[in-house]
Amino acid sequence: MTIRRICITGEPVLHTRAKEVTNFDDELRELVQDMFETMDEAPGVGLAAPQVGVGLRLFTYDYADDEGNERRGVIINPVLELGEIMDEPADEDTEIEGCLSVPGERFPLKRAEQVTISGVDLDQKPVKIEAEGWFARIFQHEFDHLDGLLYVDRLAEPWAEISKDIIEDNGWGKPGLSWLPGYDKLEG
Ligand code: ZN
Repeated sequence: MTIRRICITGEPVLHTRAKEVTNFDDELRELVQDMFETMDEAPGVGLAAPQVGVGLRLFTYDYADDEGNERRGVIINPVLELGEIMDEPADEDTEIEGCLSVPGERFPLKRAEQVTISGVDLDQKPVKIEAEGWFARIFQHEFDHLDGLLYVDRLAEPWAEISKDIIEDNGWGKPGLSWLPGYDKLEG
């Protein structure tokens, strides 16, 4: 297994719709193993293939609920059914989100409280998960990556403007930038 470099916003693969997975081969298995290792090392609660430079529709996740139950897996070619998104500002303390491709930053974002995600696993067996709260947020965030969307693309003002300034100040927002979990130290 290998820890892979994580692309930073500006890399075209992060801003392009990823393609359906059609080859369930050893290469895909290796990619998923590497994604788990990269996600754990980062550390993150989710990682989408475009974040490691691979434009395919899959992501890994690892989330422990309030009772300490760990939910960990991979979902390939997912379909996302969204619950209602309340038409009110995001709570600045409890509805705050981050992304390994915008490293070290966090901003409030309103998401659906409940989602259903379905897809397949590495053996092409169907996977279907109903999620609420943070678990639902993770799925919405990772699914967006497969459509070439980052959470910062969804922010309301003033966060949209602030995030643009920070991305610019960091010298991000252009191709060719990445970081390697476990080697490159990041703040935040
Ligand atoms: Zn992300």
